[in-house]
Amino acid sequence: MKVLVLNCGSSSLKFQLIETDQERIARDEDLALARGLVDNIGSDAVFKVELPGRGVTLRETAEVLDHKAAVVRALELLMRPDAAVLSGSADIGAVGHRVVHGGERFSASVLIDDEVLRAIESCFDIAPLHNPPNVKGYRAAREALPGVPQAAVFDTAFHQTLPAKAYLYGLPYVLYERHGIRRYGFHGTSHRYVSARLARHVGREKDPSLRVITCHLGNGCSITAVRGGRSIDTSMGFTPLEGLLMGTRSGDLDPAAALHVMRKEELGEREVQALLNKHSGLLGLSGVSNDMRALLEAEAKGNPRAKVAIDVFCYRLRKYIGAYMATLGGLDALAFAGGIGENSAPIRERTLHGLEALGLAVDPGRNAGANGAEARISPDGSPVAIAVIPTNEELLIARDAYRLVAGLPLA
Ligand code: AMP
Repeated sequence: MKVLVLNCGSSSLKFQLIETDQERIARDEDLALARGLVDNIGSDAVFKVELPGRGVTLRETAEVLDHKAAVVRALELLMRPDAAVLSGSADIGAVGHRVVHGGERFSASVLIDDEVLRAIESCFDIAPLHNPPNVKGYRAAREALPGVPQAAVFDTAFHQTLPAKAYLYGLPYVLYERHGIRRYGFHGTSHRYVSARLARHVGREKDPSLRVITCHLGNGCSITAVRGGRSIDTSMGFTPLEGLLMGTRSGDLDPAAALHVMRKEELGEREVQALLNKHSGLLGLSGVSNDMRALLEAEAKGNPRAKVAIDVFCYRLRKYIGAYMATLGGLDALAFAGGIGENSAPIRERTLHGLEALGLAVDPGRNAGANGAEARISPDGSPVAIAVIPTNEELLIARDAYRLVAGLPLA
């Protein structure tokens, strides 16, 4: 079955066309027929579509006023004779949507119907930046592909197994009851994919006692403690702002510091949101960039603020790893994923340096050689297996959509 995977932002659309079925899932095969990005929806949108099987990249700029027009144009591109990965829209068996927030209602992926749509919309209040564009994507696909079943795969769903002691804040309980103020966690599709893959990597798939930590380190960063395939704690909270230092997000912060800055700098709510989400993190600390590659280069040239930003990044990650080892009561395996986790040997090394006493050892040669592909980076026989596991959220979304349509259980 060909599944169209959509990830909608406010003016962007990422998509993949993935071929999947039960046999391909059993072989753990990733067959992406096309990967595309549409930017600047609402005016002259820029389309970039890669066709991995053919080594072709299609590019075009077209006036595209809304998400529906973007989906329609993307489908036309996939049907063009020089692409020909789709013979017609009837070729698509399902659409899978990345939906950021499923609140407490969704602990697994679901087919979208009117009731599900209302429940996703009811999360607008707690996810005002993320859920509205996801719903736009759903409506666009429903119009462009009438009758094709559509599934929602939630970033929060994997973390619905967190116990109350991990998800409650130390606030008056009534705020949880009245407004849903609690930790939800995000990047759940990535942590679910990476933790399952890691379990397989160490030959302990479906072992209920397996204790793993997954570090998703991209522009957004989060870390999750997983026991027997279930998330038991994660670093992002009510929103994706909490936890690790990120490209432009502050991560953990004393809320009193934000209130003080609001007063001192005379900032309104929107401005403080932008400060914490867009101008903080690696970018804010370094004053150089939110891009880890640029920071490592600047540090090598002697830039002290680039160095301190990287130090804070690695230190906080290391602290969380220690905390989650305590949460899990030990550790069997740890994975690095995301742009930084998959590609940056120095960050992996700096984070884990000197932790041999805790069973965390990195083999320098293996670590340096592990770039972008699944690879073990701990020495053979080490108590904790450490690996680079490239994430693939789109593949998991496609598989969930396929399983839901085929009436199969979600793995
Ligand atoms: P993602 O959001 O997963 O695409 O990850 C983006 C982040 O990965 C950016 O901070 C990039 O600088 C970082 N990244 C990608 N490749 C490398 C690399 N070779 N070394 C360090 N960071 C990298």
